[in-house]
Amino acid sequence: MTDCEKLAELLFGNIDKDIEYFEKKYPDRGLAEGARVTRFAPSPTGYLHIGGLFGALSDILTAKATNGVSMLRIEDTDKKREIDEGVSAILNGFSSFGLEFDEGVTEDGEKGSYGPYTQSQRVEIYQTVAKQLVKEGKAYPCFCTAEELNEIRARQEKEGALFAGYYGKWAKCRDITYEEAEKRIKNGEKYVLRFRSDGDENKRIFFDDLIRGKIEMPENIIDEVLLKSDGVPTYHFAHVCDDHFMRTTHVIRGEEWISSTPKHIALFKACGFKILKYAHTPQVMKIDEEDGTKRKLSKRKDPEAAVSYFVEEGYPKEALIEYLMGLLNSNFEDWRRANKNEDVFKFPFNLKKMSPSGCLFDLVKLADISKNVISVMKASEVLDRTLEWSGEYDAGLYELLCADKAKAEEILNIDRENPKPRKDISKWSEVKDYISYFYNEIYSENYTLPESTAAKDAADIVSAYIKKFDINDDKEQWFAKIKEICEPLGFTPNVKEYKQNPDAYKGHVGDVSTVIRIALTGRTNTPDLHAIMKILGREEVLRRLEKAEKIFKEGK
Ligand code: GLU
Repeated sequence: MTDCEKLAELLFGNIDKDIEYFEKKYPDRGLAEGARVTRFAPSPTGYLHIGGLFGALSDILTAKATNGVSMLRIEDTDKKREIDEGVSAILNGFSSFGLEFDEGVTEDGEKGSYGPYTQSQRVEIYQTVAKQLVKEGKAYPCFCTAEELNEIRARQEKEGALFAGYYGKWAKCRDITYEEAEKRIKNGEKYVLRFRSDGDENKRIFFDDLIRGKIEMPENIIDEVLLKSDGVPTYHFAHVCDDHFMRTTHVIRGEEWISSTPKHIALFKACGFKILKYAHTPQVMKIDEEDGTKRKLSKRKDPEAAVSYFVEEGYPKEALIEYLMGLLNSNFEDWRRANKNEDVFKFPFNLKKMSPSGCLFDLVKLADISKNVISVMKASEVLDRTLEWSGEYDAGLYELLCADKAKAEEILNIDRENPKPRKDISKWSEVKDYISYFYNEIYSENYTLPESTAAKDAADIVSAYIKKFDINDDKEQWFAKIKEICEPLGFTPNVKEYKQNPDAYKGHVGDVSTVIRIALTGRTNTPDLHAIMKILGREEVLRRLEKAEKIFKEGK
């Protein structure tokens, strides 16, 4: 037995399998050529970030567009940073937005035959690979304490080393003999397992990033930690082992990992594994409201950094997905115009069409998309989904709607299901305000008139209208009556005429109906007023008109 083999036994006496065993256990997937296997690999260290949804969509869409496989792998090797409920926050986040992976961790356990899909359950795999590396002299135990590492760093600074880190002549434990290692382990000294890098700082390494094109960097020379002192792998080592044995073909991950890629490539080579394709996605950015600069979405400053924000605010899930799709691939909007009712996951997503610079997250654009999405829903769907949302987040609204669902649906149906539906609602939390004037419990009256309309004229308009009002009028009769009251009061029923000769009139029919609208709803802009009045009913319309008449008369 060589010293390396002896060392491997000493460090990993508990490991009785070899790499071959796992190669057989996780065979080639046998997918058609071009099929891509992707994985989203979050750490359960906090809430699901909008950038996570963005990344997960890239994984799922890449797999779908190539008849491949997407996986969800939980990277829970950093127990110090892990939070309670971290995994369920991730899973809930995805399920709220209808994202489903083909394999991996789910709310009801795991699916797929390349698991376990949680890293803490894969320790045997990492240690088996590590054992092989030690056997081949490609990894070694390092006993350096935190103080020793600090000392090395200080000396590196003083002596003008290339950069700080554990490498080359600075790597103290690199050439420890078997005997010394054995002695120190028997003494109970703690150690980590390090990679013995054979990289050359003067050589360059190239890789093709699917989003960014060719990337060139110096070779890795660092003896990176593979296993921490508790035997748990670092991200770098776990990435290499997992993506190899899960038969990932495309690693799509955040751009913060670009600088580690030479390390990963060196590790793949050392393990004898095939190097995978990489795509490093851009950060999700926003324009700072205060200073107008472009910056990363911040957990602290931007509530919209958390996916849960969109659930709490009640954005329909399809709206957020549609919006993110546009951020992911700029040709999405054209595709959508040509494929209006197609399932979003049928979009032929292409990593190459992703912009390498950060993409701007814009709540205003999201609201526009969301209004479009909601505008084409049936009233019953708007009601059901508002009920679902308010059941969780707005008990008052929920009760109001439940008290008379038919009325609520009728309200939501105004100006809907026609070729040009109104686009008033961008999220379920806006429904309460949108319908508030139908419910005296929450209606806050407001008799503010446009500046161009005098209170006295408004009072006269309302008085004249009260005399003509009949709840049974159809829309034409209703509008004819509004026109009829115009002229006697100095307004014209004809907008064109008014525009030609504005000094001859106090205003036009639009100004007259605005007064009636304000009297009935407290606003200047509402859906079809005739339909609103039908729902309010004769008595309520009269009551509101009379009250407004009085207030306008008082000159308010
Ligand atoms: N757990 C890593 C992260 O959350 C995953 C990176 C990767 O996708 O490889 O950043």
